[in-house]
Amino acid sequence: MRYAPGVHVLSIAARRLLGLAFANADMLIEIESGGVVLLALGAAQAILGVDAAGLVGQSVHDLVVEADRPMLSALIAGLDDGARRAPLVVRVAGQPGRAVAFTARRLPENEGRISCALLSAAAPPAAGSSASDGLLSRDGFEAVTKSLMDAAKATGQQLELAMVEMNGLTDASALLGPEAGAALERQVAGALRAESLQGSGAAKVGDDRFVLLREQGENPATMIKRLTRVVATCAGGQSLGAAAHAVPMESGSPARLARALRYALDDFIEQGLKDVPPITLSQAMDRSVRRTLTKAGELGAAVSQRRFTLAYQPVVNIQTGIAHHHEALVRFEDGGSPFTMVRMAEEFDLIEELDQAVVEQVIRQLKGDRTGKLRLAANISGRSIGSEIFVAGLERMIKADARLKDRLIFEVTESAAIDDLDVANRHIQSLRGLGCKVCLDDFGAGAASFAYLQRLSVDVVKIDGRYVRDLASDGRDGALVRHLVQLCKELKVKTVAEMVETPEIEDAARKAGVDFAQGWLYGRPADRPEAAIVRETLAPIVARRAGTKEHWG
Ligand code: C2E
Ligand code: MG
Ligand code: MG
Repeated sequence: MRYAPGVHVLSIAARRLLGLAFANADMLIEIESGGVVLLALGAAQAILGVDAAGLVGQSVHDLVVEADRPMLSALIAGLDDGARRAPLVVRVAGQPGRAVAFTARRLPENEGRISCALLSAAAPPAAGSSASDGLLSRDGFEAVTKSLMDAAKATGQQLELAMVEMNGLTDASALLGPEAGAALERQVAGALRAESLQGSGAAKVGDDRFVLLREQGENPATMIKRLTRVVATCAGGQSLGAAAHAVPMESGSPARLARALRYALDDFIEQGLKDVPPITLSQAMDRSVRRTLTKAGELGAAVSQRRFTLAYQPVVNIQTGIAHHHEALVRFEDGGSPFTMVRMAEEFDLIEELDQAVVEQVIRQLKGDRTGKLRLAANISGRSIGSEIFVAGLERMIKADARLKDRLIFEVTESAAIDDLDVANRHIQSLRGLGCKVCLDDFGAGAASFAYLQRLSVDVVKIDGRYVRDLASDGRDGALVRHLVQLCKELKVKTVAEMVETPEIEDAARKAGVDFAQGWLYGRPADRPEAAIVRETLAPIVARRAGTKEHWG
């Protein structure tokens, strides 16, 4: 909306004009372009907790919490003459839980002064934004979108999803060094938030990639011009190739919209804006689904044709450094981490076949071992352990060869949730009954770990690497691991620390009472089950213990 010249506003009595202005504002303030308050009218005490007269001469930035200041600066810097920017919800400094919707406009005949209307508002949804710059995570964005869509529906607002690429941002930030780089990123976050609905619908989804939820109606190119102008001032002369593409948020059932959004985000994260961007959200979803199905088809063929290999990584006794057993990790043709493939196999019901094929190969390896000392652990998805057919198949294989007793271990992974804990526990007990040890993998990675430990009787718990890595720094995670180990001791369950990468972590894990360890310190996953790397400090113990048999129990 532009200010219409020729309307003689000043001929209207000041009181009437004020009445109109306050029709949708609790407070009116006027600031100069640097943000210093020139005039303040209205219920300052009620909405900001300060006196209106005392505001004059203060910077408007000081009125809002630090995290929202770059957004407010971007709003002010991005004002074109006459344009009004939609309200941004900013949190009030020193007044927890209080927020105001901030609308600003710069009139051409007002010597650069900016008129602002402030309206008391509900604090923005906190979900998903743990970052101090106020940008959402991807999950947070999906959650917030739902509530913003509901609110927009009530007011008849039409929204769009804008995908923004800021090529060169990560490099520019690295070039500037830690302090100036962080300042640039805060500035960019603020500028992006200022473009999003109420300032609460912007997320970072990858390096240089962002998504925004915003009102339809403006060409994304105009937004990009504003963003570039705001960011150029703090990028140290580096030019950032910013581009944006917007698709309307379609109406339809909330479930369908959520699904379409998820796939559209996948599409943008994977493909960026390089090739022909999709016109609609559904089109983005279709493209993403098609790509996923192609990949799932390839995975299905790789599994049924047994086109995978196994890598073996030692799991050592933390006191002696001697390998107790090796974990078998599947590798597909690309040789990299199988994690996304495993997740996909779970989603497309290919996981039982994959797990079965891996166990078959592990058994073949055990049978081929002439020393009779090799012990191997196979990973079993939380989904497979719930399947009667899958477990019956395992039982048949184990019963068919007495040599497998005590040498085959199963790690139940938490990559997929276990649907029925009673069924899973029954299956685990029947495998234990056949002489196999069972380990609960990734403990602490999922929300349900403690419920699993309570309901599933296992021999071993493997503590997720993210907690183990922080053990040495002695923070909260250290305390968590120590308590978990204590709990396991009481339950007579052994513990394994994974991702032990340094002697310091090993030391901390040993002090915490952990029984076994796995990680790069003892050996990376290798084509064959190699002996663990003997560490100098352990060498004398290893020599003494050589030849003794290690037991879980
Ligand atoms: P996991 O079972 O927790 O396996 C441990 C992962 O940590 C492996 O990743 C291993 O390479 C990695 N790792 C080991 N030591 C270190 C270390 O010191 N530092 C770091 N940063 N990483 C270390 P990988 O091979 O990428 O496997 C990822 C996940 O895929 C596994 O996690 C497991 O959940 C799943 N997976 C692997 N093979 C199979 C399988 O045959 N069946 C099923 N269902 N899942 C599998
Ligand atoms: Mg594992
Ligand atoms: Mg793990």
